[in-house]
Amino acid sequence: MSKRNYIIPIFVPHLGCPHDCVFCNQEEITGVKRGLGYAEVIKKVDSYLETIPKRANNIEVAFYGGSFTGIDPLYQRELLKAAKDKLLKGDINGVRLSTRPDYIDEKVLDYLEDYGVTAIELGVQSLDEKVLKAAGRGHNREVVLKAVDLIKEYNFQLGLQIMPGLPGSSRESDFQTVKEIIQLKPDFVRIYPTLVIKGTQLASLYKSGHYIPLSLEDGVEISSTILEELNKAQIKVIRVGLQPSEGVNDDEVIAGPFHPSFRQIVESRIMLKKVEEKIDDNPIKTLTITVNSKDISNLRGQKNHNIDTLNNKYPIEEIIIKRDDTLERGSVIVEAL
Ligand code: SF4
Repeated sequence: MSKRNYIIPIFVPHLGCPHDCVFCNQEEITGVKRGLGYAEVIKKVDSYLETIPKRANNIEVAFYGGSFTGIDPLYQRELLKAAKDKLLKGDINGVRLSTRPDYIDEKVLDYLEDYGVTAIELGVQSLDEKVLKAAGRGHNREVVLKAVDLIKEYNFQLGLQIMPGLPGSSRESDFQTVKEIIQLKPDFVRIYPTLVIKGTQLASLYKSGHYIPLSLEDGVEISSTILEELNKAQIKVIRVGLQPSEGVNDDEVIAGPFHPSFRQIVESRIMLKKVEEKIDDNPIKTLTITVNSKDISNLRGQKNHNIDTLNNKYPIEEIIIKRDDTLERGSVIVEAL
């Protein structure tokens, strides 16, 4: 039976972050205006545990939202103590958190290790100096590289978050960031194409015409290339696109590539590209596409989008879809007769 991972998310709000990243309105992103205390964290974990099957292989508490290691040290310890007590009781198997690269040093990693933290995610967003500056991140790429080295030295699992489409970015700079991310060999990556959220500086830049967000189509196209590269490098991608479950919903997103099924659309686009690579503009009587049965819906695309695209774009008389579960997930066999 495959390994099941369960994440118990605890959102840690902005709480006086001194930085001003142009895309961030932490209250909106996390939907939380006040942080939970020790007892509330324990209660929340317990209520999640009631819904998780006893046979679950891996249960982790995840502190998301804020720059965890930048918040009040006493509050960090209160939250970490709650997680550690749950670890010691054997109720959970790991603790993960997200933070900024410039809030990582030996002292920080020492106490995270003491509290049993297992995975650290860094909000990298871009490795292009120009983009980091335009996004108001307040640190340069060297800081990211140093934090990555340190986290690896301590043997924490390393996660990296990237944001294509930030101000000052281009496709080239986003793809260059991905190339470098692959060289850093993280354990996992999250891809968050930039969204314009209400109340952020980016929203003002957008309204004044100084920032042009990615369209949904651009976001899907760029994310599909990035996801494919990371798949080829065998780097796990645990999220593509911000989800409504992460506290952001339609009325808070002013612009940008937001869709509740963003990842599925991106995975379908990869399938479409794989099929298109194998055909040309010559007339085709029968196009037979074989995939693993778990990939059928990605092959078809949302509302049959991929099949309609193939029919409209190429002179094809008939498309036949076949299943072959001996094929690896993501592989496609195309026969054009
Ligand atoms: S560092 Fe994190 S919490 Fe602070 S403004 Fe930037 S994205 Fe928001």
